[in-house]
Amino acid sequence: MRLKDRVAIVTGAGRGIGRATAVRFAEEGAKVVVVDLDLDEAQTVVDEIVAMGGQGLAVKVDVSNRESVNAMVKATLDHFGGRIDVIVNNAGTIRDAQLIKMSEQNFDLVIAINLKGVFNCSQAVAQVMVAQGSGVILSTSSLVAPYGNYGQTNYVASKAGVVGMTKVWARELGRKGIRANAVAPGFIETRMTAGIPEPVVDKLLERIAMGRFGKPEDIANAFVWLASDEARYVSGQVIGVDGGATL
Ligand code: NAP
Repeated sequence: MRLKDRVAIVTGAGRGIGRATAVRFAEEGAKVVVVDLDLDEAQTVVDEIVAMGGQGLAVKVDVSNRESVNAMVKATLDHFGGRIDVIVNNAGTIRDAQLIKMSEQNFDLVIAINLKGVFNCSQAVAQVMVAQGSGVILSTSSLVAPYGNYGQTNYVASKAGVVGMTKVWARELGRKGIRANAVAPGFIETRMTAGIPEPVVDKLLERIAMGRFGKPEDIANAFVWLASDEARYVSGQVIGVDGGATL
């Protein structure tokens, strides 16, 4: 088991990539805090973890709300013995529109969840990690961050921002025993990609060297490795997991 007894928080873990990550972490022995906007979905994932013989805690959190994030940190410390070893900043959303049609509200909402949410959670756990002298901060960026994507001014800004913050935190926290890395998923089969129209899917598949979308577990496996001691000298990196979509 590569994460035995590590306390790990996974945000946006009620479904999709976050759910798969929470389950994989539990399989590797981690005690997992399953964080989501929807408590029932989070509890379902915890039930699954407990049925596997693992340990989990479901917490309802809006990552864009700092009070909610602080409550998440307190609940984690209270429940799992006063430490936090890993956070996976995975909660995210989309509100796509071309630049000239994008509402200010939808720009602000995506930035509040995908960018400031990552800042809120990382800042709150970093204080605990600095005090304990160790920790791993992981975040979900996207393959679109360095390239841009049609209709995604808000989303691309947020995901490029996550890359920038990751590199800052690797520099600031490295000497305190903390690593910071990001995963940049390609197109993964989740609710987020379920609404892409079929002709667009066909075009995307042409661009992906492996000729198919990925599974949430493909991203979860990258997070397991980055969280583990096998990646103990890896920091400030963005690991692309995209089936060769960016070649
Ligand atoms: P998903 O299935 O839509 O899951 C997103 C999760 O985040 C949901 O459980 C959602 O909760 C939760 N969430 C949304 N806003 C939240 C908030 N304010 N506070 C707490 N939780 C919140 O999407 P996914 O594809 O797994 O995406 C996971 C991450 O991967 C996102 O950051 C996304 O941008 C990134 N990503 C995905 C792809 C892809 O192809 N799927 C590609 C690149 C990057 P509810 O269900 O309650 O709304």
